[in-house]
Amino acid sequence: MMYDNAEFCNICDSEVCLSWTDTHGLAQCVKCGVPYVIYHYEGGVRVDKPRQIAINDDYIPIIRRYWQENNRPIPSGFSFAGGQEIASRDDAKCFNEWMKLNGGATDGQEPCES
Ligand SMILES: [Zn+2]
Repeated sequence: MMYDNAEFCNICDSEVCLSWTDTHGLAQCVKCGVPYVIYHYEGGVRVDKPRQIAINDDYIPIIRRYWQENNRPIPSGFSFAGGQEIASRDDAKCFNEWMKLNGGATDGQEPCES
């Protein structure tokens, strides 16, 4: 099967290297931390599909800007505190503060507790 454009991260543009989050089927880029859906399901059955960034399309340019300006891991939002998350508490705090100033509405949901 073909994976289109599967080699480079949509946010940090580096060659993709992923680590699992605490959420089934979701991984994050080990460099920038952005989450990807790896396991896809349709009607409860696992199906083969390319990895898909787990960020709303509208936020991709904002998250890319965050990465370019801050160059520190983005909290995936898919791991528990003390779990597999690669972003530290300080990274999460920085991200949350930056998003409040630059990211617009977040529907009251913080990407990661800080
Ligand atoms: Zn990345």
